[in-house]
Order: sequence, then C-alpha cells, then structure tokens
Amino acid sequence: MNMDDKALRYLNKVNDHEQYPASRCAMGDDIYMYGRSSSSSAEAMNKANSMVRERHAVDCVNAVLLWLKLEKTRYEEHRTTAWEWNEVLTPYAKKKCEVLFRNVNHCLYNISILQHAERFVFNVKRHDSPTMRTCYFMKEEVKGSVFGGCSRSFPKTHALQCHHVIAVVKSTRITDLTMSNCMPYWWMTDCWHEQYPVNSGIEYLDMETLMNTLPEDQQTKNPFRYCPPFAAPNKRGRPKGMARIPSPIEKSSRKKRKVMDKKRLETVVESLMAEDDAP
Ligand SMILES: [Zn+2]
Repeated sequence: MNMDDKALRYLNKVNDHEQYPASRCAMGDDIYMYGRSSSSSAEAMNKANSMVRERHAVDCVNAVLLWLKLEKTRYEEHRTTAWEWNEVLTPYAKKKCEVLFRNVNHCLYNISILQHAERFVFNVKRHDSPTMRTCYFMKEEVKGSVFGGCSRSFPKTHALQCHHVIAVVKSTRITDLTMSNCMPYWWMTDCWHEQYPVNSGIEYLDMETLMNTLPEDQQTKNPFRYCPPFAAPNKRGRPKGMARIPSPIEKSSRKKRKVMDKKRLETVVESLMAEDDAP
C-alpha cells in the first residue's frame, strides 16, 4: 500500500475505537452502527439549508425565520409520509431487506439449532466457507422484533441481518420467524411513527408575530423587508461528478470562441443574402 509516512504516523496514533466501527461496536452489547456514509448526510443538509446560509451573511433574523419555516415544512412532509405508510418495515428497510433476502440461497448452508433459555441459537456454515458462525434470535418479540446477532460483526456494524441469519429465516426452521420481525426495531414503521407523533408540529414565527413579542416602546413603525435571494453572496459549490470549474482563462477563451462563431455565422448569412440579391 502506498501511504505517506506522515499519514501512517497519524493513523497509528488514532485509537482503534475511533477508527474502526467494529471496534466501537465491541464496546457494549447494545451498540450498533448504521447509515454511515462519509460526509454525504452533512453535505445534503448543507445543500437543503443553502438558502439559509446565503441569507445569513446579510441578515441573521431573516435567516433564522427562513430556517424555522423550512424545518416546519420538512417535518410536516415527513410526518405525513410516515403516517401514510402502513407496512411493518419502513420503505428504506423494505428495500434493503429485499436485496439481502434475494441474494441468499439457504440450500447452500448447514444449519443446526442449539436451544437456549431466552434465545434461539444456531450454528451456521456455508458449504464453500471454512468458518462456522453462531447466530441468535430472541424468543420473545421486543416491540415486534426478535433481532439478534451473529459472531460475525456485520449485524452490529450495519444494523442489518447477515447472510447466516437470513439463511436461517429462509429455511423456515422456526415458524414465527419472518422477513419483517427479524429486522431491528429501528427499521420498523412503529419506530418511525414514534419519531413523528401524529399531532405534533413545529411553531413557525413570522416577522409580525416576532415584532409583537417586543414591548410597545420598542416596536418600530419602520417597514420591514424579507431579505431577497439576490442580496446574498452567490458562491458556487463543488461541481457534480467529474465536472470541473473552468479557470478564468478557459472562460474567456470560450467566450471569445462564441463571439467568433457568431461573427462567422453573420458573414455567411451576409454572403448568402448578397448572392440572393445578385442579378
Ligand atoms: Zn453472520
């Protein structure tokens, strides 16, 4: 591996639990990690709130009002979507689950059941793999889920079932085990509903309400204005995909080329018209 000495020295100094998800999950039985996707979620929120960030440079009050309004709209949209969904798993979990189940053929696994007082414990081994894994399910449903784990770290680092567990579910050795109750509670619609209670909402303050909260002697008769979008600085973000921001020289040469093309077209049109006019 080609790595800079400085980078290697730095990485060797960082603790394992700060660097590897599996090590962080090993710090406790109830620690799971999921939805890790580098900085994309932070970038998405940056983009969603870009209107606020632009106006923030001009007027903080305007920016905060707009921010509350955006949050309110988003919250209400999510609440409606959550309560319109009637299936056991959330749409995202359902999609993930279908992909995982589609890719496992349970006929390729050796599965043996080891009973346990409060769990179903299995020894699972894929025919073409030398490693035997031990996975388990809870016997009693906790909030509709019997999600357990595996001696492989995948369920803890991804909060999803690994292929050993899926093979057990698909083998139908345990009748009450289904595609939905083997998933963790946080992938279920009930959990989603808890995040967006049905009668909840965000109070949005408009400028007038905000003004009325001031004591009378501080209320001004000056008209107030919302910050228009063009007042904010217009800074370009990182371009999508492989696109590159052209340098000023490239920009000017492109502009020149366009002018030249236009002039050339004009001369062609002029000469054609001249030909037409000719007797
Ligand atoms: Zn496994």
